[in-house]
Amino acid sequence: MLYNRTGNSGLLLPAISLGLWHNFGTTHVHEGKRAIVRRAFELGITHFDLANNYGPPPGSAEDAFGQILREEFAAHRDEMIISTKAGYHMWDGPYGEWGSRKYMIASLNQSLKRLGLDYVDVYYSHRFDPSTPLEETMGALDFAVRSGKALYAGISNYPAAATRKAAAILKKLGTPCLIHQPRFNMLQQEPLKEGVFKAAHESAMGVICFSPLAQGMLTSKYLNGIPEGSRATVGQFLKKDQITAPLVKKVKALNAMAEARAQTLAQMAIAWVLSHKEVTSALIGASRPEQIEDAVGALKTSKFSKVELAQINRVLTQ
Ligand code: NDP
Repeated sequence: MLYNRTGNSGLLLPAISLGLWHNFGTTHVHEGKRAIVRRAFELGITHFDLANNYGPPPGSAEDAFGQILREEFAAHRDEMIISTKAGYHMWDGPYGEWGSRKYMIASLNQSLKRLGLDYVDVYYSHRFDPSTPLEETMGALDFAVRSGKALYAGISNYPAAATRKAAAILKKLGTPCLIHQPRFNMLQQEPLKEGVFKAAHESAMGVICFSPLAQGMLTSKYLNGIPEGSRATVGQFLKKDQITAPLVKKVKALNAMAEARAQTLAQMAIAWVLSHKEVTSALIGASRPEQIEDAVGALKTSKFSKVELAQINRVLTQ
């Protein structure tokens, strides 16, 4: 594994991190979840990303990960970076979502209970709340760090202007913002185009990109139809109708390029994300341990020539 410095901080994150958004709810068997986490850690993936609402049902991914920590990793806590977030709907009523101090702190306390931990390494505001003063949300992150319930503060899905403002507030409070977590992959490049990378980089933050495989669309999985059991057949967030003929045509062209580089498409997609200088880590998901092995193989052929990058761009903009 390669470990990259997170912005200007002292924290090194693995170039590939594992997220528990899918496949860790009560819908999946515990042994499968444990095998995924175990294989990731064996391969040097020290960073595990959660959120209050991961499941289904919401909270169950944190429950499952807490159980795995107790069963397998009790002796390894200091070798792991565990993050969680709050921002999306978690419980009913006026205090169960967005960015108030009430919600952010109550949710962190709930997450720590589910995880069975005294602290998380990174606590994120999961989304920008336009109705709450940013000073309040950032103040809650600062409080989480000062009270020892989190070691670092992060933001996710924040637009560029809010990123700069959040960074400035946190800096003033004395808890620098460690990291930004946007969605970024070959098919979805908004953070690069809309200035989020630039804002994060200029604010001394690291960047960890979620869905580097576009939920599986940037793998060989959907080249010849939609396999049973794939995320597009079960997921609420990736719909079958997103696997369109024009998409498959693009993905086939990208797959041929990956083959020419002697790597899988998943590996090329991850290497492409990591080729951006602002990016600290690619935050993957996995439904089985073999997918993690495939992902880690990306680090073997991680460089791109200018010609290859131009070729990829041509395919993507066709
Ligand atoms: P990816 O884009 O990496 O998609 C992962 C999925 O792709 C897997 O579950 C699997 O789906 C498929 N896949 C993975 N590897 C392979 C492979 N080698 N060959 C074929 N198929 C493969 O990431 P996710 O969308 O899962 O997101 C990753 C993490 O990012 C989340 O767990 C979460 O921690 C974070 N995240 C954060 C968000 C935020 O708002 N901050 C929002 C979304 C995610 P299949 O089930 O089909 O096998």
